Amino acid sequence: MFDLIVLVGMFVLILASGVVATNVYCRLSYNCCQSCGSMNAKRRDQCRKCGAAIP
Ligand SMILES: [Zn+2]
Repeated sequence: MFDLIVLVGMFVLILASGVVATNVYCRLSYNCCQSCGSMNAKRRDQCRKCGAAIP
C-alpha cells in the first residue's frame, strides 16, 4: 500500500515538473496564448490558433 502511494506521488511530481518545464520554456522562447495555451512566436501579436490578442 505504501509503495503505491510513493509511486503515485512520484508520478504526480514528474508530471508537475514537466508542466513547469514546458511553462518556463514557453515563456522564454514564445508567447503563450492566455485562452488556449498554444505557443506563438514572439513577433506575433495574435494567437495563431484562436486569434486572441497576445499581450
Ligand atoms: Zn490562442
